[in-house]
Amino acid sequence: RAARRRSGPPAMDETWGNYTIMTAQTFEFQVEASRLLQMMVHSIYSNKDVFLRELVSNASDALDKLRIEALRDDSLGADVSDLHIAIETDKDARTLTVRDNGIGMSRDEVVGLIGTIAKSGTAEFLQKLEEARKAGNAADAEGLIGQFGVGFYSAFMVADEVTLLTRRAGEATGTRWTSTGEGTYTIEEVGDAPQGTAVVLRLKPADTDDQLFDYTEPWKIKEIIKRYSDFITWPIRLVTPAE
Ligand code: ADP
Ligand code: MG
Repeated sequence: RAARRRSGPPAMDETWGNYTIMTAQTFEFQVEASRLLQMMVHSIYSNKDVFLRELVSNASDALDKLRIEALRDDSLGADVSDLHIAIETDKDARTLTVRDNGIGMSRDEVVGLIGTIAKSGTAEFLQKLEEARKAGNAADAEGLIGQFGVGFYSAFMVADEVTLLTRRAGEATGTRWTSTGEGTYTIEEVGDAPQGTAVVLRLKPADTDDQLFDYTEPWKIKEIIKRYSDFITWPIRLVTPAE
C-alpha cells in the first residue's frame, strides 16, 4: 500500500455535526496522486466548471452500483427506496455539497480509491502533460485535462478543503476523509453516517482565485448541470438553505 501512516499521536475523539468521530489517522498521498493534486490545487485549467461533472458522474456511478448490487444480493440491507443525487449550496458557509445515497465506500476503499491513483490512464496523462508544459504549450495541457477527465481530484480546482463522508451500503460504520490537497489526507471512522457519499467542498475565496463564478449560486449550478450532466438518469435535486 502506497499510503503511509504519519507519525504522531492520533487526534482526540470529536463530534462533527451529529456524528461522533473516532480514531483519526493522517496519510501521505501516493507520489503520482500528489503530483496530480498539485496541478488541481494550482488549477492550470481554466474551465473549472467540469469539477461538478466529475462529482455528479461519480454519484451516478455509485447509484448504478447500488442498484446492481441490491438486485444480486437481497441480504445487502441497503435502502434503495429513494435513490438520487442532491447538490446543496450554502452561501454563508461557502460550501458546496454533492450527496448521493448510492453504494458508498468502505474505509479500505476510501484509502485505495481516493488516496492513490489506480487508473492506468493517469500516468500517461501526467507524462503527456509534462511534455506539453516543457514545450510551453498551455493549450495542449487544457486539451489533455478535457480529454482524460481527472475525476474526484478536480474538486481541488475550486475547493481549498474537501471532506468526503461515506458509508458503504450494508456496513454499520462510515468513514470521513478530509484533505486540503497538500500532501496528506486524514481518515476517521464515523459512528453514524448516512448510506452513500457526501462530498463537501469548502470553496476557495473568490478574491484569491480567478473564478468567474460563485459556485454557491444556484443558477450557476443549474447551468453547469444542464451543460454537462443532462444525460444523468438519476434525479438531481438542488437544495438551497432557507433564507
Ligand atoms: P473514476 O470515476 O474515473 O474511477 P474518480 O477519481 O472520479 O475516477 O473516482 C475514483 C473512484 O472513487 C471511483 O472509481 C469510485 O470507486 C470511488 N468514488 C468516487 N466517488 C464516489 C461516490 N460518490 N460513491 C462511491 N464511490 C466513489
Ligand atoms: Mg469519476
